[in-house]
Amino acid sequence: MPDLGGHHVPRLYDSRKRISVTGGAGFLGSHLIDRLLEQGHEVLCIDNLFTGTKRNIEHLHNHPRFEFIRHDVTFPLYVEVDEIYNLACPASPIHYQHDPVQTTKTSVHGAINMLGMAKRISCKILQASTSEVYGDPEVHPQKEDYWGSVNPIGPRSCYDEGKRCAETLFFDYHRQHGLEIKVARIFNTYGSRMHPSDGRVVSNFIIQALKGEPITLYGDGSQTRSFCYVDDLVDGLIRLMESPPDFVGPVNLGNPVEFTIRELAELVCAKIETSQEMIMEALPQDDPKRRRPDISLAKAKLDWSPSVALSDGLEATIAYFKSIEGVTDYPS
Ligand code: NAD
Ligand code: UDP
Repeated sequence: MPDLGGHHVPRLYDSRKRISVTGGAGFLGSHLIDRLLEQGHEVLCIDNLFTGTKRNIEHLHNHPRFEFIRHDVTFPLYVEVDEIYNLACPASPIHYQHDPVQTTKTSVHGAINMLGMAKRISCKILQASTSEVYGDPEVHPQKEDYWGSVNPIGPRSCYDEGKRCAETLFFDYHRQHGLEIKVARIFNTYGSRMHPSDGRVVSNFIIQALKGEPITLYGDGSQTRSFCYVDDLVDGLIRLMESPPDFVGPVNLGNPVEFTIRELAELVCAKIETSQEMIMEALPQDDPKRRRPDISLAKAKLDWSPSVALSDGLEATIAYFKSIEGVTDYPS
């Protein structure tokens, strides 16, 4: 056995990397994997299939540079890679509130395990953080230096506080152990492969409109969100991973065009050429009233800004949901 010099395995191609994506069978992770494979890298997908599904990665089944490990990141893992994208965590309110203790464990223990792995093998690690770290913000639009307004004991806290603690761990590993980290604060993102029953607003409205069912506005629909198309977001994540080592974030990644939820409902109905009744349902506790990213840092440091307008992204997403009508093998 030749001496491989610690954990460093020689590469046939200098630019080809071995990259691990936790949460890779989910919505964002599976798109990220597609892009990394297109770039010629080897990808190791790590996922426990809690909200992700093999459907999202089945087209990669025989891909020579793709591997899948069914693994829960709350347990340690020993693999050798050059980079880690840490995306494992349920992202929709319905899913992350289903088992809130496991949600916090996934963010916190998952971060500890992945950071520990990154430290052992000296690799770069990126955290998929979230606009939820700003809570129900008093500052608008949200900039990275805003510390947030988060309820520590509410139904969203398992996700919000879990993600905030994960950011703390990332920065402490960086300061204490010199680990190369990147932290992205992702704002509402949509596109194909969103789980059809995860209750997020874009998928809910499209499915309701396609089925001819009433559109469920929580509250009066005047709350706002800013919706980023998945291709733009993936581009931002990769640019962040490839940015110089002295840029660690946190950096907002999202589309700064803000819509009310009612406007989104009207746009979805117009695209599907239907006019559904809109019914008001109770606004979930601690639902943020306004959300829009200030992306000047991403523009300056990553030369990144989204290019897909909501109207165009919705068309692609509607086509996807039409294509899976009748599919029943999603985890519930
Ligand atoms: P998703 O639910 O589709 O994907 C999450 C993936 O993580 C799933 O495949 C799931 O099975 C996996 N997972 C969950 N717990 C795990 C565990 N303990 N061990 C291993 N795998 C586990 O959600 P998504 O929208 O693709 O989100 C991906 C990441 O991006 C999440 O960390 C989320 O917090 C973050 N994010 C997403 C958005 C968005 O709008 N989509 C916004 C902000 C942040
Ligand atoms: N929402 C809604 N109807 C739905 C689903 C969601 O009005 O059927 C609202 C929800 O209350 C929130 C916004 O849409 O104000 C975005 O919800 P989502 O769950 O997609 O993401 P969040 O940004 O709240 O995490």
